[in-house]
Amino acid sequence: MTDLTTVIHDLVHPSSARLPSCEHDAASPETDRLRAWDREHVWHAFTQMQEYEPLLIEQGEGSWLIDTEGRRYLDGSASMWCAVHGHRHPRLDAALTAQAAKVAHTTNLGLSNPTTVAFARRLVEIAPAGLEKVFFSGDGSSAIETALKMAFQFWLQSDPPRPERTRFVAIGEAYHGDTLGAIGVGGVDRFTAMFQPLTFHAIRVPSPGGPCPASGNPPPQLAEALAAVERVLTAHAGEIAALIMEPLVQMAAGVYVHPPGFLRGVADLCRRYDVLLILDEVATGFGRTGTMFACEQEDVAPDFLCLAKGLTAGYLPMAATLTTPRIWNAFLGTHADRRTFFHGHTYGGNPLAAAVGLESLRLFRDDAVLESLPAKIERLRDHAARIAGLDHAGAVRQCGLVVGFDLVADKATGQGYPWQERRGMQACLAARTHGALLRPLGDTVVIMPPLSITLDELDLLAAATEAGIRDATAP
Ligand SMILES: *Cc1c(COP(=O)(O)O)cnc(C)c1O
Repeated sequence: MTDLTTVIHDLVHPSSARLPSCEHDAASPETDRLRAWDREHVWHAFTQMQEYEPLLIEQGEGSWLIDTEGRRYLDGSASMWCAVHGHRHPRLDAALTAQAAKVAHTTNLGLSNPTTVAFARRLVEIAPAGLEKVFFSGDGSSAIETALKMAFQFWLQSDPPRPERTRFVAIGEAYHGDTLGAIGVGGVDRFTAMFQPLTFHAIRVPSPGGPCPASGNPPPQLAEALAAVERVLTAHAGEIAALIMEPLVQMAAGVYVHPPGFLRGVADLCRRYDVLLILDEVATGFGRTGTMFACEQEDVAPDFLCLAKGLTAGYLPMAATLTTPRIWNAFLGTHADRRTFFHGHTYGGNPLAAAVGLESLRLFRDDAVLESLPAKIERLRDHAARIAGLDHAGAVRQCGLVVGFDLVADKATGQGYPWQERRGMQACLAARTHGALLRPLGDTVVIMPPLSITLDELDLLAAATEAGIRDATAP
C-alpha cells in the first residue's frame, strides 16, 4: 500500500487494521433492517436488483459521504455529477430553509414567485449571449424534451413556416437522458436499443471523441468528423429541425473528449444550414470543464442550452432550457392564434430549488470557484498520468475536473475485458474499501469530484481510485 492509501485506510477504518469489504461487514441491526428493506422495496436506477448490494449513506460533509455505520468515503462522482459545492454547504442549507419559511411550492403554470424570477434573471446574466428566455423543468431529460419540442414547434410557427423540418441530428454514443424523446436522440445502444420501436429515429453522425478500439474503425479526426456533419446537413437539407450535442465532452458515453474545434465547427455548420443548435450541458454545465459552461471555451452561443445536474448543486431536482428571442417570438400571439407551448412540468421553477440554485451561483462568485479550478485540474492531470501507468489502464481522457480510465486486459493491444466481468464496477467497489465512492461507465472508471474538493482530498481520491483499479485487475 502507498502512504496515501494507508492514510485513507486509517480514516475509513479507524479501529481496524484489516481491509474489510464494507457490504459484508457486520453492521448494526438498524442498518441490517434498512438494507433488507432497500433490497425488498426500492427499485434502483440502472441497477440489476438481483445483484444489488445496499450501501446506505446517511450524511454528507464537504467532499465526504458517511454511511449508517459511520464510515467515511470521498464522493468521487459528486453524487452523480451534481454536488458542485460538496455536501451540506452552510450557505446552501440556509438558503433552502429561508425559502421553506416563505413558501415551498408555487406552480409555474401562469403564476410566479420572486425567487424563481430572480434565479431566471441570474441565469440569463451568466449564460452565453442571446439566451434570454428560461423554461424550468424538473430533470435533465425533461430539459431535453423541452428543447426538442420547442425546436419542432418553432419551425411550424416560423415565418415562413417550415413544417417539413421534423428531424433531429445527434452524435454517436450521445446520452441525453432516459425519457422517450431523449432516447430518440441518445446513442448509447446498451441503454436504448430495445426501446427504439417506441421513439423517433435521429440522424446520427459519428462521435470524434471515443477511444481507439483494439479492432474496428478508430473515431474520426476533426476534419473528417465535421465533413460527416456537413454531409448529413446537405443530404437532409430542409428536413432538419435541430442538431443536439454535448459540448466538449460526452460524459455518459465514457468521458469522450472531442477534439478542439469540433463544437465551433458544428455551430458554424448549423448557422450555415439554418439548423437550430441544442447544447446539452446537463453534465458539463456549472464549472465541470473549467468554465461555467463548456460552450464558452469555443465561443459558441446555441439556440437552446439545457441545464440540470449542477443547477441546484445536488440539493433538489431542477432543470432549465434556455433559449433566444427568435424562438420565443415564434410562440407569441393571442390564445386563439394557437401558438402557445403546451408543455410543462408540475415542479418546474420550484422556489426551494430556485433559492438553492441562486445561492449556488453566489457561491461561485464569492468563493471564486472557477478561479480555483486550474490548480485542481492540473493536480488531477498529474494523478491521471500516474494511474495511466498501471498495467491494466488503457486510454485516459480528461476534460476539466473529470477524467476517465479505460480498463484493458492487454495494454499492448488495447484489448478490453469481457464486458460480463464488469471490471469497471469491480474497480469502483474495490475503491470503496479504500475510502472512495466512484461510479464507472462500463469499463471506464471515472473521477468526477465536487468542484470544492481540496487538493489534499483530491490526492486521497486518486490514491483510492488507483488502489481500486489495482485490486480489480490483479492477476
Ligand atoms: C444526466 C444527463 C441527462 C439526463 O438528466 P436527468 O436529470 O438524469 O434526467 C441528460 N444529458 C446529459 C448530458 C446528462 O449527463
